[in-house]
Amino acid sequence: MKNVFNFSAGPAMLPAAVMAQAQQEFINWRDSGCSVMEVSHRGADFIEIAAQAEQDLRDLMNVPENFKVLFLQGGGRGQFAAVPLNISTQDDTSLHLVSGSWSKGAVAEAAKYNNAKVIGEVTEHNGFQYMAKPAAADIDQSAAYLHFCPNETVDGIAFDWLPEAGDVPLVADMSSNILSRPVDVSKYGIIYAGAQKNIGPSGLSVVIVREDLVGKARQSTPSIFDYELMAKNDSMYNTPPTFSWYLAGLVFKWLKAQGGVEAMASLNQHKADTLYKAIDESSFYRNNVHPENRSIMNVPFHLADPALDKVFLEKSKEAGLLALKGHRSVGGMRASIYNAMSIDGVEALVSFMKDFEEKHA
Ligand code: PMP
Repeated sequence: MKNVFNFSAGPAMLPAAVMAQAQQEFINWRDSGCSVMEVSHRGADFIEIAAQAEQDLRDLMNVPENFKVLFLQGGGRGQFAAVPLNISTQDDTSLHLVSGSWSKGAVAEAAKYNNAKVIGEVTEHNGFQYMAKPAAADIDQSAAYLHFCPNETVDGIAFDWLPEAGDVPLVADMSSNILSRPVDVSKYGIIYAGAQKNIGPSGLSVVIVREDLVGKARQSTPSIFDYELMAKNDSMYNTPPTFSWYLAGLVFKWLKAQGGVEAMASLNQHKADTLYKAIDESSFYRNNVHPENRSIMNVPFHLADPALDKVFLEKSKEAGLLALKGHRSVGGMRASIYNAMSIDGVEALVSFMKDFEEKHA
């Protein structure tokens, strides 16, 4: 098999050991003669691995008892709608921080269902994109919730502070940074994530929701998005994405074996530092995000001469470094370096970049 490093933003690479295990079990899961994707979600075997996956995620994130963990469908965008439908009325205000394209998308979707109000946006700061923390006084205490995205996948903008929102529940879209570092779940109302970056295959979304926010869904909420109905049915009111759930369970076990999110956090920081250092040391490449807001998961960078983009992408692909094209809305390059990406992959990219610069500068 070709030895490649896959920098896709999502669906993204999964740990090699997990993929090998899934392959080994694929057509004969637990000696049943069937694949895990061919058995009923109501069978004892599937229920056991589903519950184990939830427990492992709870352990990894230290999820407090008073939070439900749901395994749903509809991806990140599904939650853009599910959140307002579950925890706000048509007349409520939802507050939003817009740090990039996904949190902007969340505002547009919420605006269909409540009065969505942007209270903070990325600004230009000495030529860098900067996300300031909103003042506590700007957070309307009568709002239904405050939504933000701590890691913007497209823009590579991240922040690790939490808004000082008092009693207004914090809702975080962690699609591209869940499990990349420790978070104090107790400080949030809802954390959600599409699975296809740090958890497993697409088709699954994980929702971690504080119990007092469950049971408030509007009457018109689609049943499959109703947190209370889903929680009562162990996320099996409808047929769940069983294969994705199974694979997520394998990823959680793998993460535990790596030393959990603390170990991941230091490895992720090291990978990101290595890549940003290479970018900063060169005038051939640049990253426009303020150092305080640089994502450790998604690293966008531009070549000083965009005419070289095409050849950079061709040559990097030939070198086995895949999916480095930046999102079409921002152009340039982007290296997504989620948990499954090894430091070897980042070092291979850095060495390719140096080589490319020498040849083309
Ligand atoms: N939020 C973030 C931060 C994302 O990165 C993405 C997808 N890349 C989404 C939301 C949308 O997720 P989905 O495509 O699963 O709806």
